[in-house]
Amino acid sequence: MKSAAVHRIVIAGGGAGGLELAVRLGKRHGPEHVTLVDAAPFHIWKPSLHEVAAGTVDIHRDGLSYAMLAHDNGFRFVLGEIVSVDRQAKELRVAALRDAEGEVILPERAIPYETLVLAVGSLGNFFNTPGADQHAISLDTTEAAERFRLELLKAMARASARTDTITPGVVNVVIVGGGATGVELAAELHEAGRTISAYGLPGMTPDKLRITLIEGGPRILGPLPERVARAAEALLVERGVQVVADCRVSEVRPDAVVAQDHVFEADLCVWAAGIKAPSLISSLGLEMNPMQQVKVDETLRTSDENIYAMGDCAAAPWLGTDKTVPARAQAAHQQASYLVPLLSARMRGEVPPAQPFRFRDFGSLVSIGHGEGVGSLMGSLTGRKLLVEGWMARLMYAVTHWSHYAAVLGLWGATVRSLSRALSRRSQPRVKLH
Ligand SMILES: Cc1cc2nc3c(=O)[nH]c(=O)nc-3n(C[C@H](O)[C@H](O)[C@H](O)COP(=O)(O)OP(=O)(O)OC[C@H]3O[C@@H](n4cnc5c(N)ncnc54)[C@H](O)[C@@H]3O)c2cc1C
Repeated sequence: MKSAAVHRIVIAGGGAGGLELAVRLGKRHGPEHVTLVDAAPFHIWKPSLHEVAAGTVDIHRDGLSYAMLAHDNGFRFVLGEIVSVDRQAKELRVAALRDAEGEVILPERAIPYETLVLAVGSLGNFFNTPGADQHAISLDTTEAAERFRLELLKAMARASARTDTITPGVVNVVIVGGGATGVELAAELHEAGRTISAYGLPGMTPDKLRITLIEGGPRILGPLPERVARAAEALLVERGVQVVADCRVSEVRPDAVVAQDHVFEADLCVWAAGIKAPSLISSLGLEMNPMQQVKVDETLRTSDENIYAMGDCAAAPWLGTDKTVPARAQAAHQQASYLVPLLSARMRGEVPPAQPFRFRDFGSLVSIGHGEGVGSLMGSLTGRKLLVEGWMARLMYAVTHWSHYAAVLGLWGATVRSLSRALSRRSQPRVKLH
């Protein structure tokens, strides 16, 4: 491989995987070698988006500034949306940055690379369901989650003043998709609804936020053991969430979700029933799977020898199975760790280490609000699945969140962040109300 005077690694997307990679490579090699590009100025860990949607995470208070992380960890940060990749010229094109009035702050830019790492995540997949892209919100970006939060607040405020409808004062939220995202959102919304009611919307008692969770398969949390799914469903039902399984949605209307034999009234519809890679990936002319994820080999390299891909946008072989690595934050995290020595060697013009990427499934944890969780963990000694429930599962879930922040802020930074969040909760409402 011919090595340039300065080997520039550009990481496209600073999410669960890309940001951890930028931090670790930046610390080793510095900003002349490592560049991170992201469309957003701050980072929110994607598994927290259901909390953003429910208002229990405030993006303006809890988001981590990429500019600060770049300064502290030795990488360069470029703010803007990547619109195309010129594989021949080996450069990315980043769209002009505009303010709310459309005035250009920064013009369109070209970012050259020797090695490109695609880490642009995924978007909701509506599977061509009529009306879904117009009337349902998919929690795939921070903006979408924030938009949902504001729509929910408006719907609750309107409902609290409504007197002339058949069911006055009711807000119906329908969540399509009973995977971890849908289940966590249902529980979080239930708690947020109680808090918002408590802060004085006249007539808007907690039971008037009606949450329905629709799953196309025979049960919620399909990939998790049945006992975990049953425990999660029992907790949701206890909280008043209507759980409907074996129900295929055929259309989303402005005020309803239509399934085979039922129409569910919906003031708001959230789509959490599958993912696909962003269109940037399909524009590259690389090999893809039906979810538009770019195919990579067991070293996470695409069919272009200068382009690697990781996280949700990549279809990586899950060695030892006939599946691809699941689209999960723990996979993105493991892939970031795997790529650090590989890309460092590449940067030095050495032959990268030959070991393939092996995904280790440590199990899944699902939060059911703030005091409960359920999950199944892979026992490292027994190799068998251990079932965890209740506050213990919730605590372990919180630890997985904390570990991401420890990976990007360091142990001390992540601890200070957690403490300051805990303290600030004493002077602020538990749910963001504006
Ligand atoms: C509500 C919710 C809950 C979840 N809970 C869990 C969980 O409990 N456990 C778990 O393992 N997984 C969970 N997941 C899945 C997990 O969030 C993803 O698998 C993980 O975030 C994927 O990481 P990534 O680095 O591939 O992409 P992401 O974390 O999605 O990051 C992608 C980044 O790319 C940027 N980007 C995208 N396109 C462009 C562009 N054109 N130009 C510039 N920047 C761009 C985005 O701004 C973003 O910062 C959850 C997902 C959701 C939505």
